[in-house]
Amino acid sequence: MLIRAPEVERPSASAVDAALADLERALGSSKVDTSEAARTTCARDESEAFGVTPDVVVHAVDASDVARVLAIASERGVPVTPRAGGTGRSGGAVPAAGGIVLDTSTMGRIKEIDRAELVCVVEPGVVTGALHAACEAEGLFYPPDPNSWKTCMIGGNVAENAGGPRAFKYGSTQRWVLGTEACLMGGRVVRTGRRTVKGVSGYDVTSLLVGSEGTLAVLSEVTLRLVRKPEAVATLLGLCASARDAAAAVTALVTSGLVPRCVELMDAWTLEAVRRQGAAVDPRAGALLLVELDGETREVEAALERAGGILAAAPGSIEVQVAQDAAQRDRLWEARRSLSPATKKLAKYKLSEDVVVPRTRIADLLDETARSAEALGVRHLTYGHAGDGNLHVNFLWDDDGERSRVDAAIASLMKTTVALGGTLTGEHGIGITKIEYLPLEQSADLIALQEDVKRAFDPQGLLNPGKIFAPRRGHGAC
Ligand SMILES: Cc1cc2nc3c(=O)[nH]c(=O)nc-3n(C[C@H](O)[C@H](O)[C@H](O)COP(=O)(O)OP(=O)(O)OC[C@H]3O[C@@H](n4cnc5c(N)ncnc54)[C@H](O)[C@@H]3O)c2cc1C
Repeated sequence: MLIRAPEVERPSASAVDAALADLERALGSSKVDTSEAARTTCARDESEAFGVTPDVVVHAVDASDVARVLAIASERGVPVTPRAGGTGRSGGAVPAAGGIVLDTSTMGRIKEIDRAELVCVVEPGVVTGALHAACEAEGLFYPPDPNSWKTCMIGGNVAENAGGPRAFKYGSTQRWVLGTEACLMGGRVVRTGRRTVKGVSGYDVTSLLVGSEGTLAVLSEVTLRLVRKPEAVATLLGLCASARDAAAAVTALVTSGLVPRCVELMDAWTLEAVRRQGAAVDPRAGALLLVELDGETREVEAALERAGGILAAAPGSIEVQVAQDAAQRDRLWEARRSLSPATKKLAKYKLSEDVVVPRTRIADLLDETARSAEALGVRHLTYGHAGDGNLHVNFLWDDDGERSRVDAAIASLMKTTVALGGTLTGEHGIGITKIEYLPLEQSADLIALQEDVKRAFDPQGLLNPGKIFAPRRGHGAC
C-alpha cells in the first residue's frame, strides 16, 4: 500500500515529444535515456510514495547540461524532477507528473578540498560516504552523516537538509553549506553564498535552497565547510529499563554541559526486532542509548567518564558498556545503521516518520504513540536521534485492510507532535508523504508566503511539482 502523489497536470504527448527532440539535439542521445529500466528506477525512491513514471531520464554531467534541460523544460512546458541517490524517505525524487527526471548522480566530482581554508567544492552526485573518506584522508572532517551515507549524495543531502546521528553536536547539513551553484528554470545559473567563514550580503538564498526539496533550483555545485578530524572517538551503550528512563537520561546528559556527538535511542519494540534478527541484546533492557563523544584524546577520556557516570546514575539504568576498540564501535554502529532495513523485513509494509519534539517531551511522545497505536491495533517501534528530539516512529502492517488504522495512527502522531511543540519532519522533508499534514504545523499565511517564493523561482510550476504544498486549483502552479 503506497502513498499516491497529488494530482498534478501532466504534460501533453506533443510537449514531451518536442522536449525529447530538443534534449537529444542539445545533449546528445547518450545522456537522454528513455529505457524502461531507467524510467522505472527513477519512478520511486526509498519511501512509500509513488507518482507517474517519467517519460525520460537525463543523465547530466555538468552545469551546462542541467541548465540546458531546465531551458528546454520551460520552453516546452514539461515538468522536471531532480534526483541524486534516490534514497529519499518522503518521495522528493518521485515524479508526480511524469516528464523529465534530471539525474545528477552522474555529476560526482570532488572538485577541491582546501586544507588551509577548511572548505571543499563538490558536485551533487558525490556519495556522502565518499566525501567523508576523501576529507578524512586529508585529516579533515565533514560531519553530516545520514545513515544512508553509503548511497545518498550531497545534492540530495543539501536539498533535504539531511541530518544523521552526529547532528546533535554538529548540526544538520544546513550548518555546513557555504554556497551553491544553482540552475534555475529557464536555464539561468546563479552562484549563491560564499566560501568565506562570514558573509551577509543580500538575502541568505543559500539557506533558502537548503531543504527546498528540489522545488526551487537544481544544484550543480556545493561549497561546504569542513573541520579538522577529531583526534579521538569513544562510544558508550546505556541499557535502560524503559524508554521513559532512557528519555530522562538524555535530558540529564544534555543539561550536564557535555556535548556528545551522537545520542541515539532504541525503544523496547526496536530491541525486540533487533533480537529477532539474532543480535545479543541484554534481555533486561527495555530501551537502549548509544552515546558517542569526540574531540582531543584527553577531553574525550574525561567526557567518557562523566557521561558514563550520568548514564549509570539515571533512574532505571541497568548497565553502561564502553566500546573497547574501533571494531567494537563499528559493530555497534552497524547494528544502529541497519535498523531501517532490518525493521523493514518485519512486515510487508512499513511507514517511517521522523518527527521532532522538544527533548523534554520525548517520553510523552513515546507514551502517547504507544497508547494511540495500541488502541488502533497497529504495530509500531521507535528509534532515532534522541539528542535532537528527532525520532523515527515506524508503523508496520501486513494486510491492506489494516491501512486505514495505520493512517489514523500516523495522523494521531502528527497531531501529538505539534501539540507537544514539535515539528513534522526533522530530516526527511515533507515531499509527498507528509503534504496533508503541513497545515497542522504551519498557518495558511505562512504556506501562501512559501508558495509565493516558489513562484518567484519557478513561475510555471514545472520544477518538482506536487511536493511540499498541496496543489491548489486556480492558484498558480504550486
Ligand atoms: C536506510 C536509510 C537511512 C536513512 N537515514 C537518514 C538519516 O539518518 N538522516 C537523514 O537526513 N536522512 C536519512 N535517510 C533519507 C535520505 O537518505 C536523505 O534524505 C538523503 O539526503 C537523500 O539523498 P539522495 O541523494 O538519495 O536524494 P534523492 O532521494 O535523490 O532526492 C532527495 C530530494 O533532493 C532533491 N534533489 C536531488 N538532487 C538534487 C539536486 N542536484 N538539486 C536540487 N535538488 C535535488 C530531489 O528532488 C528530492 O526532493 C535515510 C534513508 C535510508 C534509505
